[in-house]
Amino acid sequence: MVNLINGRELSEKIVGKIALEVKNYDKKPGLTVIIVGEDPASKIYVNKKKKTAEKTGFNSEIIELPDNVSQQELEKYIDELNNNSAVDAILVQLPLPEHINTYEILEKIKPEKDVDGFHPVNVGRLVIGLDPYAVSCTPFGVIKLLEEYNIEIEGKNAVIIGRSNIVGKPMASLLLNKNATVTVCHSRTKNLAEVCSRADILISAVGRPKFVKAEWVKQGATVIDVGTNRTEEGKLVGDVDFEEVSKKAAYITPVPGGVGPMTIAMLLANTLELFKLHNK
Ligand code: NAP
Repeated sequence: MVNLINGRELSEKIVGKIALEVKNYDKKPGLTVIIVGEDPASKIYVNKKKKTAEKTGFNSEIIELPDNVSQQELEKYIDELNNNSAVDAILVQLPLPEHINTYEILEKIKPEKDVDGFHPVNVGRLVIGLDPYAVSCTPFGVIKLLEEYNIEIEGKNAVIIGRSNIVGKPMASLLLNKNATVTVCHSRTKNLAEVCSRADILISAVGRPKFVKAEWVKQGATVIDVGTNRTEEGKLVGDVDFEEVSKKAAYITPVPGGVGPMTIAMLLANTLELFKLHNK
C-alpha cells in the first residue's frame, strides 16, 4: 500500500510554528515581493505568498511594476530594499520579461536578503556544503517532506528529472550534501526510463502531465512530484501518472497537496531565518 506524503499538513505545522515564534518578537519579519508585468499565474502566486505571510504575523509588501520597467529602474528598487532595515527578505517573482537580465537582477539582491536562495553566493555556499543564507524554497521543502516521513536519504540512489536553477540543481546539491548518490536527468538524457528505474528516490520537475510512468518506477520507491500542470479542463496535475505509479511506489506526493504548499512554508521559514540574522 502506498503512503501519501501530505505536504499540506506539514506546511500547516511549519507555518503554525513560525506564527507562534513571531508572536514573541517586538518587530515583525519583513518580506517584500517584486512582480513585473501582468502574468495572471504569477499574480495569484504572489498574492498567496503575501496572504500567508501576513496571516503568520509578517509584514509583507508587493511592489507591482509594469512590463516595460527598465533594468536600471528595477535595480534601483532592489537597492532601496537592500538598504531598508524593515525589509528582511526580497523576492523577485520569476520569470521576468525578456528585456531584463534575470541573472543581474538576482545578483543585485543582497545575499543576506535573498529569500529564494538564487544569488550566486547562496548557490555557491549550497554547492560547497556551507550554510547558505537561504535555500531555494521548493527543493528545501522536498527535503523537509523526506525528513518528516523518515525516508532515508544517505546512500540511496536519488534521480532528479529536470536541471533548472530553481528546482533540479539545488535539489541535487541538497541530496548530495545528505550523502545520496545523485543523478540529474534532462531533455538530452538517454534511456531515461532505465535511469529512473534505479531510483530509490525519484523526483520529477519537468512540467508535463503523466510524464513519469509506472514502468519507470522501482517497486517501493519514493516518488516526489514537483510538476504543476493544468489539464485542458483546468485541473491541476503533476508530472507523475499518479494512479499507476501509486501501485508501485512506497511513498508518493499528490498534486495538489504535496510539494506545492511546502514552497510557501519554506519561503516563510527562510524569511524568519533572515529576520533573525538581521536582529542578532
Ligand atoms: P524548467 O525550467 O522548464 O525545467 C524543466 C526541466 O525538465 C529542464 O531541465 C528540461 O531539460 C527537463 N525536461 C524537459 N523535457 C524533458 C524530457 N523529455 N526528458 C527529460 N527531461 C526533460 O522548469 P522548472 O522551473 O524546474 O519547473 C518544473 C516543474 O515544476 C514545472 O511544472 C513547474 O511549474 C513546477 N514547479 C513547481 C513548484 C512548486 O512549488 N510545486 C515550484 C517550482 C516549479 P533541459 O534542461 O534539457 O531543457
